[in-house]
Amino acid sequence: MRPTLALCLLLTMMIPTTIARNTDMPRADASTQAPTAIPPPPAWLSGLDALYDAELRVAGLEDRTFNAEHWWSVATPLLARTHGFHVEEIGRSVEDRPLRHVRWGEGRIPVLLWSQMHGDESTASMALADLFRFLGDHPDHPLVRQLRANTTLHVFPIVNPDGAARFQRRNVQGIDLNRDARMLATPEARTLKALYDRVKPMYGFNLHDQRVGYRAGDSDRGTAIALLSPPYNHAADVNDVRTRAIEVAGVIRTALEPYLAGHIARWDETFDPRAFGDLTTQWGASTVLIEAGGIEGDVQKQRLRKLYFLGLVAALDSIATGSHVGVAPALYRELPENGDVWPDLLVRGGTLSVPGRPPTKADLLVNFRNPLMETDGAIADIGDLGTKKARRTLDARDLFIVPIPGHEGERTVIEANDDGDNDEPRSPLPLTPGASARFVLSRDPLGRDVVWTLDGSVDPATPAPPAR
Ligand SMILES: [Zn+2]
Repeated sequence: MRPTLALCLLLTMMIPTTIARNTDMPRADASTQAPTAIPPPPAWLSGLDALYDAELRVAGLEDRTFNAEHWWSVATPLLARTHGFHVEEIGRSVEDRPLRHVRWGEGRIPVLLWSQMHGDESTASMALADLFRFLGDHPDHPLVRQLRANTTLHVFPIVNPDGAARFQRRNVQGIDLNRDARMLATPEARTLKALYDRVKPMYGFNLHDQRVGYRAGDSDRGTAIALLSPPYNHAADVNDVRTRAIEVAGVIRTALEPYLAGHIARWDETFDPRAFGDLTTQWGASTVLIEAGGIEGDVQKQRLRKLYFLGLVAALDSIATGSHVGVAPALYRELPENGDVWPDLLVRGGTLSVPGRPPTKADLLVNFRNPLMETDGAIADIGDLGTKKARRTLDARDLFIVPIPGHEGERTVIEANDDGDNDEPRSPLPLTPGASARFVLSRDPLGRDVVWTLDGSVDPATPAPPAR
């Protein structure tokens, strides 16, 4: 078959899926086509997993809301020159915090990794500290020897230290650094671009966290890790640069599948000419975007941190050995896309009891600034939310929802605290969208016989009413 004809046929076959997604109809039947068999994970994986638990997890990063100064105080002792590391200051943030570049390795393949350009996305920075310990403390490990001989790693941890200081997405000027790759208006983005130009990486790793609420495809399963080979044009064409990235993404999936089957997704391939991953791909680096979502119960993302580390090592090893060449693109292509974003908490079936107002049947949706910790919540919606699903649902039938007095006028605005847009309305009135989530579930309308309290944050000691 001529290549052009084959391509036309392939495109024709792909069209129903696209239509199905855009019109909310059931997906084209994918079950008739058997999914590609996922190869076994690398032979070294279980050994490295055990080594990680025994020695590699760097202490001092148990709270994921650390700032850049703290991260460097933890990482710097790992970065001795005798261990092969070279650290240099390559710029300053808007608030004059140092921006640093860590170089390691003697190989001919330059690899650039950058983390936390969104200040509240810290999982990769934790994993990078663990990677530094692995590289530095285990120079004779076969994986480390291979990496050192064949690659040179250029790491730019915490691109956005001013944002990290506030644990917020944007830099201190309110600019999203991952929308500043074209204009380069910020010193942080300029520093990353200058490093890129100097290093001229063959491979790039754009390291992020995404919303915990994302589902994997149209399933009810949360996305723990999402991968993307960012497109370099609006057509999302695949050239040699992207082919390598797609292969490496397939390698990461293969390594993490034993841990996260069904919870690995693909970020969508819409081209954004302002985003770093899209442009580094355009500039010629085979770039992989890795997004840490969430694992329920892993409130500080410490389990996800290890999996992020293992995925990174698998990717780097496949680059050092060339073993990603020929990996089936389907391992990436057949991942479900990130689907719906589920809100954090749904209080279903309660009766709203606000002093001076008539009692009203209403469901209540709450989103938290830190969804895994369930802290700093705000009302996201109220009313008949019978069609909604949430990460956690409480059954409030036979209970009254009573605002906690004394907080009128207060508001909590939840920033889009991970990747994805956020358009929550804001209002200062209690128990209306945008207000702080401060209420009790009570057996009486005056809030005296309290069953459960949400005073902005969930008190983990409070017994929850029945979930359903
Ligand atoms: Zn991000």
